[in-house]
Formats: sequence, structure tokens, C-alpha cells
Amino acid sequence: MSADWLKPAIQAVAETLIAHSEELSDLDSAIGDGDHGHNMKRGFQAVLEQIDQIAAEEPPKALQKIGMTLVGKVGGASGPLYGTLFMQAGKSWDGTPSVAAVAAAVEGGLDGVKARGKATAGEKTMIDVWEPVVAALKEASDKSGADAAAAARSAAETGLEATREMKATKGRAAYLGERSIGHLDPGARSSELIVQTLSDLVS
Ligand code: ADP
Ligand code: MG
Ligand code: MG
Repeated sequence: MSADWLKPAIQAVAETLIAHSEELSDLDSAIGDGDHGHNMKRGFQAVLEQIDQIAAEEPPKALQKIGMTLVGKVGGASGPLYGTLFMQAGKSWDGTPSVAAVAAAVEGGLDGVKARGKATAGEKTMIDVWEPVVAALKEASDKSGADAAAAARSAAETGLEATREMKATKGRAAYLGERSIGHLDPGARSSELIVQTLSDLVS
């Protein structure tokens, strides 16, 4: 059985990413090829086109479907990486809406991204947002959903801001070397937008 919160949550995430498409591409223009917003928009427009079929699934299965849609629609680095994030998060979730179960799901997604992209924290990627978010959720596992969501949101903001002073060593931005320093990572910003949007729905 599907959950009644699922469709509005998917819709909110997709609409946020689409609304920030230009900002994300501008960030990518500074240190990459300027298409991150376009890539996310393309992927999440495809998700919106199928939202009724996706939201009819149990939440873990719905996450997997979102991941498969992103892999199918989005090229570049972010398609397979975000695809893996959603697919592995879905596979790592038993469907319980507890903070601990959600933490385990996000951790599964993060581990998938790390394995797929062969990257770790500190390389100026989306991992620099998801890793502190996982840590914050784990630490908040005995707290209320609203408190955990606020902690995750704060961790995502701090993680995003930390990418500014990092030197990119993975992805296209790595070609810039030292010149990547001083710019936010676009994939970290899109990840932070996802956390922020979901956190707003919980609090
Ligand atoms: P592309 O670089 O192929 O144009 P996008 O611009 O859509 O793809 O996505 C770039 C984002 O992907 C980066 O900002 C970064 O956050 C993320 N990224 C790139 N390579 C990796 C990697 N190996 N591991 C994790 N994230 C990565
Ligand atoms: Mg790009
Ligand atoms: Mg590209």
C-alpha cells in the first residue's frame, strides 16, 4: 500500500530541483560543464511524468523507481550517482518511518554513491552533504522526526558550505585542481536542496 505523504514529498523534491535548475547550472559553470541544473531538471521532470505510478508503490519501492528513472533519463555523472543513491536507499529501507530506519536507508544510498563514484568525503562532491546527514540522523535516532529533520537540515547546510573551500579530486571539477577552490559544489547543493525540502515536510 502506498503512503499518503509519498506523492506530495516526491512532488516537492522534484519541484524544488526544477525551480533551482538555473542556480545549479550556474554553480556547475564555475567548476564543471554547466549542465547540472539541466540534468536534474530532465530527471525530475521524468519523475513527475510518472508520479502516479511511482507514488502507488510502497515507499522503498518508490525510491527504487525514482532511481531507475534518473538512471534512464540523466546522463553524465549525476544520473548514475543520484540513481544509485535513490535505488540503494530504497533497498536499504524496511519502510518503517522511524528516524533509525530512515538513517539506515540514507546510509545505504550514501554507500552506493561512494562505491559507484569511488569517492569519499572531502573530495568536493554530493558525498560531503550526504555523509554528515547520515551522521546527524544516526545521532538523532532517539529524537522526534521533527528534531531529526532539523538536525539533518543543519548538517546538510554545513556540509554544503564546507565544499566551498575544498579542492575537487573527483568528477569534472577535478580538472580545475586548485581553481575549484572558492566555489560550492553543484551536486552538494542539489543534495542539500533535497534534504531541506524533505526536512520542511517533516517539521
Ligand atoms: P557531469 O559532471 O557529468 O556534467 P553533473 O554536472 O550533473 O554531471 O553532476 C556533477 C556533480 O556530480 C558534482 O557536482 C558532484 O557533486 C557529483 N559527482 C561527480 N563525480 C562524483 C563522484 N565520483 N562521486 C560522487 N559525486 C560525484
Ligand atoms: Mg556538469
Ligand atoms: Mg555534463
